[in-house]
Amino acid sequence: MPNGRTTLSKFLIEQQHRRPEADTDLTALLNDVQTACKYIASAISRGALKGQLGGTAQGNVQKELDILANEIFLESCALGGQLAGLLSEEMEDVYPVPSEARRGRFLLAFDPLDGSSNIDVNVSVGSIFSILKAPEGVAAAGAQDFLQPGVRQVAAGYAIYGPVAMIVLTMGDGVHGFTLDREIGAYILTHPNLRIPEDTREFAINTSNARFWEPPVRRYVEECVAGRSGPREADFTMRWIASMVAEVHRILMRGGLFMYPRDTKDPDRAGRFRLIYEANPMSMIVEQAGGAASSGYQRILDVQPEELHQRIPVILGSRNEVLRLERYHVEHAEGKDQPFESPLFNTRSLYMQPG
Ligand code: MN
Ligand code: MN
Repeated sequence: MPNGRTTLSKFLIEQQHRRPEADTDLTALLNDVQTACKYIASAISRGALKGQLGGTAQGNVQKELDILANEIFLESCALGGQLAGLLSEEMEDVYPVPSEARRGRFLLAFDPLDGSSNIDVNVSVGSIFSILKAPEGVAAAGAQDFLQPGVRQVAAGYAIYGPVAMIVLTMGDGVHGFTLDREIGAYILTHPNLRIPEDTREFAINTSNARFWEPPVRRYVEECVAGRSGPREADFTMRWIASMVAEVHRILMRGGLFMYPRDTKDPDRAGRFRLIYEANPMSMIVEQAGGAASSGYQRILDVQPEELHQRIPVILGSRNEVLRLERYHVEHAEGKDQPFESPLFNTRSLYMQPG
């Protein structure tokens, strides 16, 4: 290997050798996922140049890339012999392994293209994936088999298609980042053992929803915005990319807090992100890097899914800030919020809201 570089393929094999029970099926599956991500990276980097995407309307290109990315995942992974079923954001039901293919012990859940509305403006997008074990004796998985809490994931990761393309991966033994070397067509280990700092002075939230936030989130943001003269006695800064993969990637690189909390905008919607193939894999990555991930009310990885595409509020990133937000949720539920002055949100009216 030139300059002692470690490719993702080599890394996966070495990881298995270090384990008491080497699982070459998992290695093979992750290699299929890696292949899918290379194809998607290639398709995305060509943008509007890609002939088959020659739609005239912008929305057309975006939609086609979502579907193309989904097809790439299916074609790269469904026939590999490692899976008992696949679940995608783009498909309502579980996708069965085609009858001509060998069936395996794993379940693959994925968001083939995350943040796809960013494609038109040339901002980073990504793919997110989660790997579970099929329940014992299940050869052809159904919806029920995917309803496992995130703690049972055996591997999780995302690919980011940005100025450089990367895969960030955990197999339950730390988080490692690989950069795509397009000249040789391989992901190279460039970011071993990523760690999220426990503290941060940077947060990310869609403030246009501020009027719909629940009191604990209002309190948190208000305190951050109050800066040095407020209760936190520190100035904060804010980022908002509106691409979950890009937000999580930034947090892995330098810390931070990302929130898409529950709000009152649409009371029937529990949150924005999908539990099984967005929140769970990202939560495993963040926890494995020393961060934390919560719904505000509960550790995300402990949540028992009830539906394939169910949504959940997400608060993740630097550990101490996530814990602070969880505490604010508890204090609010117990009626223990300290009254706080606010020029920004008019706190007093907050306390007059029902609930
Ligand atoms: Mn998504
Ligand atoms: Mn998507």
